[in-house]
Amino acid sequence: MASDPSKDRRFRPATELVHGGILRSQFSEMSEAMFLTQGFAYPSAEAAEARFNGEDPGFVYSRYANPTVSMFEERMCLLEGAEASRAVASGMAAVAAALISDLKAGDHILASRALFGSCLYIITDILGRYGVSYTLVDGKDLDAWAKGVTPETKVLFLETPSNPTLELVDIAGVAEIARKAGARLVVDNVFATPLYQRPLELGAHTVVYSATKHIDGQGRVLGGIVLSDEEWVEAKLAPYLKHTGPSMSAFNAWALVKALETMEVRVARQTDNAEKLAALLVDHPAVTRLYYPGHESHPQYELAKRQMKRGSTMIAFEVKNGKAGAFAVCNALEVAKISNNLGDSKSIMTHPATTTHQRLKPEERAMLGISDGVLRLSVGLEDVADLADDLLNALDRVAARRQAAE
Ligand SMILES: *Cc1c(COP(=O)(O)O)cnc(C)c1O
Repeated sequence: MASDPSKDRRFRPATELVHGGILRSQFSEMSEAMFLTQGFAYPSAEAAEARFNGEDPGFVYSRYANPTVSMFEERMCLLEGAEASRAVASGMAAVAAALISDLKAGDHILASRALFGSCLYIITDILGRYGVSYTLVDGKDLDAWAKGVTPETKVLFLETPSNPTLELVDIAGVAEIARKAGARLVVDNVFATPLYQRPLELGAHTVVYSATKHIDGQGRVLGGIVLSDEEWVEAKLAPYLKHTGPSMSAFNAWALVKALETMEVRVARQTDNAEKLAALLVDHPAVTRLYYPGHESHPQYELAKRQMKRGSTMIAFEVKNGKAGAFAVCNALEVAKISNNLGDSKSIMTHPATTTHQRLKPEERAMLGISDGVLRLSVGLEDVADLADDLLNALDRVAARRQAAE
């Protein structure tokens, strides 16, 4: 094994994404190796003893650490500018670990209301059973965050841009509130990607990703990662993961390491496409509202410019005629697929009210701005002219149908 790569960022992100964190075997392979192994053999009993008492930092068991998984973790640290990280089996395993590893009965968690459904479930259902209380606030409102802090508040949690209506939360503003409260700010950075938003530089303590999304970007494997400072990772996160075991498989880590090599190119192209589609949607007569942080019509456009390098690969918009209009658009699409994932190279259209957010009560959906006419589009790598034709064709049918009905 090569010696541990330096944790100092030495190159720009696109370069680190190709070369960062490689652990080469004695064969000096070019492409990262997949170490599909559970355990590791020791040359002697003394060597095994040294591995277990920490004198020798080598690998012990793949539930604790694995060379291919370590390559993925190291490459992500270089990209994020984080001291340490741990990869896990899915995005939800990452969110659960980031919260549960550091909370105990009597603690309080303060979070924005516009969260991915399962993140909300962890906070409102699971943690509550173990005596952790919570408050949900309107993430856009910094005063609400400040007022929500109690002496027991240990963690602040947010997602920005949020799913599905791409609301933003001021990360630096909330980080300052967390700092004053002596609490940790955890940011779910899936929608912005590590390329376009850097929560740690804005004062967050921990960043979590579903690697299932843009990091894989090709709809293949599930994965998640938690990134933070070394002291917290070693003291809190690592023991929790080691003993509960939501480990990332070496196979998935290998797919993700290879996917990182192309992530910058993919996400840039997907964002180019999204910007062009957003510009078409904003003026379309069948569209009543566009939600895109990279477009000046977004109510938090100034904040978007301040904390995001670019506006995301995700677009949301509301069409006329509610659910019927939204379904007509979905069903007329020929290029974009109807599904619920995001960040894929294939464009995906989602109707949140009847799928990802179906479980919410109507008044909860209304509070989050998820009307029956809202659609979420994850923009892929197709030729943007084909995507534009597909979308305009679908929207024109809605407009034509309405005229016929009038
Ligand atoms: C998908 C997603 C998750 C969960 O990730 P999985 O890999 O599906 O477990 C968490 N947060 C956000 C914002 C997501 O989009």
